[in-house]
Amino acid sequence: MITNPIPCRLVCSACLATFPAEIVKTFGTGGWLESDLCYRSYATFPYPYLVAVCPCCHWAAYIHDFEKLAYLPRYSDSELSKALREHLEEQRVLYPGSRKYELAAHAYARAGTPPLGIGDLYLRGVWCARYEAAAEVEQRLQQEAIRWFERALSQDLSGFERARVFYLLGELNRRLGRFEEAVRWFAGVGPAPAWLKSWTARMSALAREHDPTIQVL
Ligand SMILES: [Zn+2]
Repeated sequence: MITNPIPCRLVCSACLATFPAEIVKTFGTGGWLESDLCYRSYATFPYPYLVAVCPCCHWAAYIHDFEKLAYLPRYSDSELSKALREHLEEQRVLYPGSRKYELAAHAYARAGTPPLGIGDLYLRGVWCARYEAAAEVEQRLQQEAIRWFERALSQDLSGFERARVFYLLGELNRRLGRFEEAVRWFAGVGPAPAWLKSWTARMSALAREHDPTIQVL
């Protein structure tokens, strides 16, 4: 199912400006995972629409952390709709998904969000940068994600979250060509669901072969 972003009106929690943004309501179905755990499907790439940036003060956050005022009407031929469409198109160029997540990571870090949450924001930024074919941005955000996931590990993660973070540290290092670090992190994954165990073995083997390419799982 192809779904398009829906325009809505948000209130910035930082400066109280009201501004139009776009959200998506579905991730699609029947997709696949890329090896850094990015879910993809044939529907609209959803991640850029799960965060928004205030055009007035550049505060950025997950849509659910904004006060959502209302959905806006579907585009028609009216002048207002044309202006809205132009504004939203301009915002997409000014703030591609990777930039939105980077700004959101800064905002949540300032607000004292635990490191795991910040690492996940940078990870989503990595997914967006790859979708945007912005290799340098992807690498920079991979490095930030590593920094925050390492910090998260010093705060007593357990169970699946701990295994997921070890796997991601392995995978992000492998993607950056830091193969020895990657193998070390993969070796530390520990107890994990069978699917994650099998992907860990596969990605670790690629790291030992010095292969940094993204894989479809
Ligand atoms: Zn604002």
